Amino acid sequence: MPESALAAPDIVAPARRRLLQAALGSAALLALPGCVTRIAAPSAAAARLQLPRLQVDPALVIREVAGLRPFRPTGFRVEPERLGEKLVIHNYGHGGCGVTLSWGTAELALELALAQPQRRAAVLGCGAVGLATARLLQDHGFDVTLYARELPPDTVSNIAGAQWGPSALTDRELRTPEFGARLARASRFAHRRFQLLPDQRYGIRWMPLYFVSKKPGFEPGWEWAQTPELFRTRTHAPGTHPFAGRYLHEIQTMIIEPTIYLPAMIDAVRLAGGRVVVRGFAHLDEVAALPEPLVFNCTGLGARDLFGDASMLPIKGQLTVLAPQPEIDYATIAGRYYMFPRRDGIQLGGTHERNVWSTEPDPALSAQILEGQRKVFDWPA
Ligand SMILES: Cc1cc2nc3c(=O)[nH]c(=O)nc-3n(C[C@H](O)[C@H](O)[C@H](O)COP(=O)(O)OP(=O)(O)OC[C@H]3O[C@@H](n4cnc5c(N)ncnc54)[C@H](O)[C@@H]3O)c2cc1C
Repeated sequence: MPESALAAPDIVAPARRRLLQAALGSAALLALPGCVTRIAAPSAAAARLQLPRLQVDPALVIREVAGLRPFRPTGFRVEPERLGEKLVIHNYGHGGCGVTLSWGTAELALELALAQPQRRAAVLGCGAVGLATARLLQDHGFDVTLYARELPPDTVSNIAGAQWGPSALTDRELRTPEFGARLARASRFAHRRFQLLPDQRYGIRWMPLYFVSKKPGFEPGWEWAQTPELFRTRTHAPGTHPFAGRYLHEIQTMIIEPTIYLPAMIDAVRLAGGRVVVRGFAHLDEVAALPEPLVFNCTGLGARDLFGDASMLPIKGQLTVLAPQPEIDYATIAGRYYMFPRRDGIQLGGTHERNVWSTEPDPALSAQILEGQRKVFDWPA
């Protein structure tokens, strides 16, 4: 049986039920660049979108965490470079979407690897990017040893939200059509690849994501606009759902649970014959002395010091996590605040602090996050 056939239908059923409850019959079509949006008219009470309300209460907070997005202003780097006798293939700089794009940039890195004869590889880094790279290499016959200073649960990938969608990847003024095309390839490959993983074992769950907005039209960010077919949208007009006076722009998204996904990926690497070695590299000489002729650099923000990429910088992000509320089977983004429900808690976040290196959560930001969400879910009785 193909792995994808193991998908548990009960996970998607509530969302599908809600889709059917919504007012499709009275939908109007609104054409927008790169996407098609349906707007459900507020005609019949029976057509209302039924959503359970998120409980936002400081007493429900179970943890506050912060992590550093490995941001590279021109976007991820997937590129070969000679290091003495070795070939290094870089794969880092994924900003706010390293979980999302992990399989996609791994595919770009694999293409470079297949073009040369070596089949014995060292992968540096055991976050989402290193793990996807290792697995894809193994699937193509490479013998892989994974080296990392930190393993899950101590990587940035463990802090991720982790909703599937490219964002916070580039600086606006540095975007190019060439990079947009590479991003599109990586996005399509990764989107498909996540769907091929058994959802329960890897902690992947489909659900609706609602953008709560004052505007009737959905304006996707540049990263999403590269692959509009992955973000098909429909819009629920004010009055057809509980968010008073707002439009809800709905897409279908995947939420990936790092506490399940990353250990499952390590297991898969080992099951395929890979070795995982805890080791930090302080200098390139140490990398050059590795026994493997081929090296994949998936060190995220670590590439700044190890490979001297001074363009790498952190974008700090903070999460306030509420106790799990299993009835919440949808995600929201309202302005800068997002809510991603997971089995290990309700992830509330959306902060971006550029060039901040501290991983200490800021209590003032936590209070802002909670207050922002309290307003979003302050539905009329
Ligand atoms: C608050 C927050 C929310 C986020 N939300 C999302 C989201 O919703 N969706 C999404 O897709 N992404 C999200 N991200 C971004 C995502 O977490 C990162 O892009 C991703 O984790 C980067 O993965 P990585 O494997 O490149 O790096 P990491 O996870 O940082 O892994 C790097 C690995 O390299 C190793 N390493 C580094 N330097 C060395 C060295 N010198 N020697 C040996 N090993 C080394 C580390 O120990 C580690 O194993 C979020 C990030 C934050 C902080």
